[in-house]
Amino acid sequence: GEVSLDDTRPGCNEQNKLKIAVVGFGNFGQFLAKEMVMQGHQVLAYSRSDYSRVAKEIGVQYFSNPDDLCEEHPEVILLCTSILSTEKVLHSLPLDRLRRSTLFVDVLSVKEFPCSLFLHYLPKDFDILCTHPMFGPYSGKLGWAGLPFVFDMVRVTRAHQAEAFLDIFRRAGCRMVEMTCAEHDKHAAGSQFITHMLGRVLEKVGLVNTPINTKGYESLLSLVDNTARDSFELFYGLFLYNKNAMEQLDKLDWAFEMVRKQLSGHLHDLVRKQLMLETSNELSRVVVNGNIMHNHSKKLMIPIVANPSDIVDFGEIRHDLVANGVE
Ligand code: NAP
Repeated sequence: GEVSLDDTRPGCNEQNKLKIAVVGFGNFGQFLAKEMVMQGHQVLAYSRSDYSRVAKEIGVQYFSNPDDLCEEHPEVILLCTSILSTEKVLHSLPLDRLRRSTLFVDVLSVKEFPCSLFLHYLPKDFDILCTHPMFGPYSGKLGWAGLPFVFDMVRVTRAHQAEAFLDIFRRAGCRMVEMTCAEHDKHAAGSQFITHMLGRVLEKVGLVNTPINTKGYESLLSLVDNTARDSFELFYGLFLYNKNAMEQLDKLDWAFEMVRKQLSGHLHDLVRKQLMLETSNELSRVVVNGNIMHNHSKKLMIPIVANPSDIVDFGEIRHDLVANGVE
């Protein structure tokens, strides 16, 4: 059926109306297309799989052939393909069928990679806008207001066209953040990649709902929910095509080891000894006003936390810190 246009939603006027071709009409491509249709843009789509039915439902004109799509002369080509398939898909587009004034946009979750692909493959006449909406069908299901939208005007000669495209996200209330692709990748490895990594690790742990969930635990459950829904290919792309991701993975490994050491190092032995002594000194406890008091004079005390650096081998940990460039 037809989409029902929400009258209250701010839409584009005739001047700003764009003809946008979504290439890669999967999970995220469809999610973006719905909003663009809602705002009154003309949306076309092409993908490897046949999405003609779902396209019709959301008011998108579907093409199963890239030549036919390009013959329609869309003003914007919006790449929503998986990170791993982007180069292949870009390479397979008949660029010579497009107008020279075409604007190429991508929404890949890594930015330096598509930026250099575009610069490498696209004729000089095409404009290039690299973007990353920092939300997805799950986190943005209740609307995009306040959600960050990163963009880099890599090569823009027709500003009004790029601005008309950015307006889609402005109108939806996104927080527009302009930064270079390199800056994005650095920030994203330290935030988004870590989030996905921990979400996937916790999914393997198999967290279950309990009758006594704390707020913190609830946030872990929603982290799993938020990240495990994305395709593994997306996660893999975040890792493989962001040169900063490996460093973050190493840091996570190191941090896990360090915290584990803190728990199970020498301190552990000392605590155990202390507990054993306490048990053997049970009889030396006296009760005063209902409180259990220890009879310290009869007990050998071991300073557990007085000066942790005396007990835990921090030398070794510091060595790790230096090796990982943290200190
Ligand atoms: P994805 O698994 O990253 O990508 C799925 C899309 O890639 C589908 O359109 C699929 O086409 C296409 N594709 C995969 N392998 C292909 C191949 N070998 N040849 C041709 N096409 C291929 O999942 P996604 O969530 O839809 O993400 C799409 C893009 O948006 C990614 O670059 C991702 O980084 C970015 N992004 C996603 C989110 C999110 O929340 N999901 C948020 C921001 C940005 P078919 O379906 O036709 O097979």
